[in-house]
Amino acid sequence: MAVTGWHRPTWVEINRANIRANIENERRHLPEKVDLLAVVKADAYGHGMLEVAHIAKDAGARGFCVAILDEALALREAGFDELVLVMGAVPLEYAKLAAEKQISVTVFDVDWLRQLPELKIPLRIHLKVDTGMGRLGVRSFDAVRDVEDEIAKRQDLVFEGIFTHFATADQLETSYFEKQLGCFKEVVASLKERPAIIHCANSAAALLQNQHDFDAVRFGISMYGLTPSLEIAPVLPFALRPALSFYTEIVQVKELAAGDCVSYGATYERKSQEWVATLPVGYADGFIRAYSGFEVSIDGERMPVIGRVCMDQCIIRLPRYYPTGTKVTLIGEPNTADEAASHLGTINYEVTCLISERVPKKYIL
Ligand SMILES: *Cc1c(COP(=O)(O)O)cnc(C)c1O
Repeated sequence: MAVTGWHRPTWVEINRANIRANIENERRHLPEKVDLLAVVKADAYGHGMLEVAHIAKDAGARGFCVAILDEALALREAGFDELVLVMGAVPLEYAKLAAEKQISVTVFDVDWLRQLPELKIPLRIHLKVDTGMGRLGVRSFDAVRDVEDEIAKRQDLVFEGIFTHFATADQLETSYFEKQLGCFKEVVASLKERPAIIHCANSAAALLQNQHDFDAVRFGISMYGLTPSLEIAPVLPFALRPALSFYTEIVQVKELAAGDCVSYGATYERKSQEWVATLPVGYADGFIRAYSGFEVSIDGERMPVIGRVCMDQCIIRLPRYYPTGTKVTLIGEPNTADEAASHLGTINYEVTCLISERVPKKYIL
């Protein structure tokens, strides 16, 4: 069991109203008949899976997408009876469990179906087509036909959906995207029987591309108010509202003299007198060592993390004296997840996913 630090002043704040607004804005943006599936994998990208699932359901999401069967089981356990699709591979031996819980599974290989023993209860299947992502999915018309034939042969399989995933939907240059889309449409047109839910869009495609030909979108990162990429941020159809902020409080303030050093390795040496503060957050909380040099903020004023980030603590340079207990924004306005991502050389998705279970989540609004 992971221990969560409720008795330490380091926490994540999740703004429910912002998640709700992002979903409602996207639903208004979509054609009436297109459903929104809320992608809540990986603990809702660090935002808390069950809390986000409740918000998404209230805001009109038709169902949920997750990466692994355990996430789907947790949703069922919590009482969600909407569609839940596991987008990753489910081992054959757990297909029966998925069927019992009415969890939809992704099929990307006809052999998986051929090896599946008779289940006696219906298993809902979404066929994944690899149109250019090169990850999961069948790669030929013949393979699609084989899966269709296998499903048609059996009483225990329901062909509920077909989908693909785009590799470049978050880029302004759309030629590769168009190629994938064209390929997917051809595959859909080749089907003997059209399943109920044809879906292809992630957040980027759901925001930027027409969805008239489809039944649902898989809305992930932008439900949390983050842009799928910096490149498309200026052309998004509505303003996204980030839901997550990461806070801590100063636990000690000290005055360093010239020549004093800070943290492991003594990599940071004072050149003149200055105030520094120790924060009770470190790499075990997902505030990884690469945050060294990143500018956090107090009351909107930026100040840098100095020296090495430790497992449980780190140190910042203050522009002046602040008392113990002063609130520090690790991620939030103005030092956003996008800025953190740039500093770390990664994407905003990883910034929020990194925050560990040791950090408690507080929900507001
Ligand atoms: C994670 C995931 C999504 C969601 O993508 P976002 O960019 O977060 O909207 C959609 N589809 C698949 C297959 C995924 O793995």
